[in-house]
Amino acid sequence: MLNKRSIEDIDVKSKKVLVRVDFNVPQNENGEITDDIRIRGALNTINHLMQNGARVILMSHLGRPKGKFNAKYSLKPVAERLSALINKPVVLADDVIGEKVAELTNNLKDGDVMLLENVRFYEQEEKNDPEFAKKIAELGEIYVNDAFGTAHRAHATTAGVADYLPSAIGYLIKKELDIMGKAITTPERPFVAILGGAKVSDKIGVIENLLDKVDTLLIGGGMAFTFYKAMGYEIGKSILEADKVELAGNILKKAEEKGVKLLLPVDMAVAPEFKNDAPITMVDADKMPNDQLGLDIGPKSMAIYSEIIENAKTVVWNGPMGVFEMPNFAKGTFALADAMSKCKGATIVGGGDSAAAVEQLGFADKITHISTGGGASLEFLEGKVLPGIAVINEK
Ligand code: AMP
Repeated sequence: MLNKRSIEDIDVKSKKVLVRVDFNVPQNENGEITDDIRIRGALNTINHLMQNGARVILMSHLGRPKGKFNAKYSLKPVAERLSALINKPVVLADDVIGEKVAELTNNLKDGDVMLLENVRFYEQEEKNDPEFAKKIAELGEIYVNDAFGTAHRAHATTAGVADYLPSAIGYLIKKELDIMGKAITTPERPFVAILGGAKVSDKIGVIENLLDKVDTLLIGGGMAFTFYKAMGYEIGKSILEADKVELAGNILKKAEEKGVKLLLPVDMAVAPEFKNDAPITMVDADKMPNDQLGLDIGPKSMAIYSEIIENAKTVVWNGPMGVFEMPNFAKGTFALADAMSKCKGATIVGGGDSAAAVEQLGFADKITHISTGGGASLEFLEGKVLPGIAVINEK
C-alpha cells in the first residue's frame, strides 16, 4: 500500500508551494467555461494551503496547444473563475517560467494564490525535459501534485519537478488513493468488477490484475463479442478483435482456475445497422443472427447484473455496456448506473463514459467515488504505480 506524504503532513507556512492541478476544463466556442467541476475539485487543496499561510502557485494544462503559445488555450478564464470561487484575486502569470514569473512568485504574501500560464505552451512539458522541470522547480519550495487525471503521465509538471523539491499529494489524489487503493487491496466482499467498453485489448491489464482480487467479474460492451467467439458463439456483424480471441479464451480459463465468477451477458439488443433508430431485437447471446450486430446488453442480463451489483459490498466499474452514445443502446449502461446507486456497499466508477452515465442520471451523489481520471484510474486498476504519484515522497 502506498504511504505518500500529503499536504496535511507538511508545514507550508510562508512557503512557495507549486501545485499541479487539473484545470483542463471544457469551453464553448467563445472560450467560456461550460463545466467548472475540475476547478471546484481542487478547492479543498487550495483552501487548505491558503488557510495554512502558503504562497500558492498553481500549474495546469488546458487543451492541446502543441508546445506553442496560443491565446485560445490561455488559462485566463480559469483564473477568473477560480478567483470567484475562492473570493480572492488570482494573479495569472503570462508565462510558465522566466524572470517576470519569478518576480511575481517573490511578491506573493502568505495565503496568496497565483496561476502560471498553460504549461503545455512549452513542448518540454510533455517531454518531461529536466531543464524545464528545474526552471519551474526554482519558482517554489515545495511541490504538491493534485492532478489525478494526468498522474499517469510523466510530464515536467506532473512528475519531473519532484526531482528538485520536497513533495506531497493534495486532497484529490489522496481521496483517489484512499478509496481505490482500499477497494483493490482490502475490499469488503463480495467484490464485483464491471468492465465494458469497445475493446478487450484496452482492458486486458485491468482484467488480469482484477482476476486475482475480485469475486465476480461482469463483462459487457463490445468486448463481450471477442469472449463469445472464444466460446464458439456466432456473433454476426458485432465488433470483434480477431487477434484477441485466444487471449479471451485464456482469460475464461484463468477465471475458472481462480474461482472467479466471470459473467458475460446472456442476451443482447441487436440491430441490422450501427444506428440509433435501427430496428432492435432482443436475442439470447448464443442465438445471434448473422446479419445483425450487438449494440447493448439485453433485459435478462440487466436483471442478473443489477442483482449482483446491488448485493455487492464493493463494486468497481469501468466502461459502458453498450453504444451508450445512442440513446436506444444506452439502456444497459443506465440500468447498471441505477443498480450502483442502490448498492449499499462501496461503489467506485472509473472516469470517462461510465462516469458520464452516472452523472447524466443524477446518481453522482449516491456513488461512493467517481474517479476524476479515466486513463489514470484504469492504470491504477491495472496495478501500476502512476508516475505522478511514484515521484512523491513517502511519509
Ligand atoms: P471505452 O473507451 O473502452 O470505455 O469504450 C467506450 C466505447 O465502447 C463507447 O464509445 C461505446 O460506444 C463502445 N461500445 C460499447 N459497446 C459496444 C458495442 N456493443 N459495439 C461497439 N461499440 C461498443
